[in-house]
Amino acid sequence: MNNHDYEGFDKTGTRQAPLIDYHVHPGYSLDAAHRSIRDYCRRALELGLKEICFTTHLENEPDHFHTNNEVRLHGRRVPSYQLHWLEEYFKEIERARDNFTGDGLIVKAGIEIGYSSHLEEFIERVLTGFPFDFVLGAIHSVQGTSISNLKDCPEYFRLCTLEDLREDYFGTLENAVKSGFFDCLAHVDLYRRYGYDFYGEDIYTIHRGFIEPIFEEAARRRTGLEINTSTARRGIEEFHPTREILQLAVEAGIEIFTVGSDAHSLDELGDHVSEAISLLEEMGQQVYGFSRRQPYTLLPPGLSESEDKKQEAKHKRLESRKNIKS
Ligand SMILES: [Zn+2]
Ligand SMILES: [Zn+2]
Repeated sequence: MNNHDYEGFDKTGTRQAPLIDYHVHPGYSLDAAHRSIRDYCRRALELGLKEICFTTHLENEPDHFHTNNEVRLHGRRVPSYQLHWLEEYFKEIERARDNFTGDGLIVKAGIEIGYSSHLEEFIERVLTGFPFDFVLGAIHSVQGTSISNLKDCPEYFRLCTLEDLREDYFGTLENAVKSGFFDCLAHVDLYRRYGYDFYGEDIYTIHRGFIEPIFEEAARRRTGLEINTSTARRGIEEFHPTREILQLAVEAGIEIFTVGSDAHSLDELGDHVSEAISLLEEMGQQVYGFSRRQPYTLLPPGLSESEDKKQEAKHKRLESRKNIKS
């Protein structure tokens, strides 16, 4: 990615929506580099991102998330369920807004919540207590065991058949959608990341027949879907989710899509988001941002003053409508 992209054109010279990254883990997450929100904003400006949305982890699984049940605050580890750290998180985001908005960077306060049905009361408390712009729902664990953590996942994958995984994962995903907590579903085929080594190619098709009704429910609720580009740096084929799953989402009526790198360090910020945006546009879909939990489309940049005035006026009208919506 380079500044050329920021001008609003992709590799083929086609006008593209502005670059955004809606999945970023600053140093509060123990599995992320110890970097501040300001560090990420500086890097975002260097990369020419128009928006950065921080989505720090919130996990609260009792047994199997040795690191994720804690967060890093002022260099110390504190339990994630003691929510005062989120006040600090919001203050840091507010300071970043003061510092970077003038430079043209929009800074959003999001969160990535690991969903399990027994956590619903806790999640509700978090969501009613803080003014998030964007709430990502993720299935990181099934039956209380992490499937997204290399250390913990063999415990599940070794014991369970592909049918067990299908039932457990999509059952949890269905509950996550029906909970109504989430603006968008993160990396919806995350089970592929480590599951491939245990189940082989068959893991690419376990969604068939199961994910469609869940997507239909998501579409009814205007819940969105993320394209998560972290697969590219992990040597995993296709983004999360695969093109086949994206197509099923579109067919089910999902219209809201975000893109995110799932950056856990500065060098991962904005990784491959341009390609994810191109993929959406190729599929006739638009990329969305969120403000105070309300989605808005990120249209391709307006035409410059030297170009057709009529088209510019039309673009401005769309922009103002977008602002009213957001
Ligand atoms: Zn995640
Ligand atoms: Zn993440």
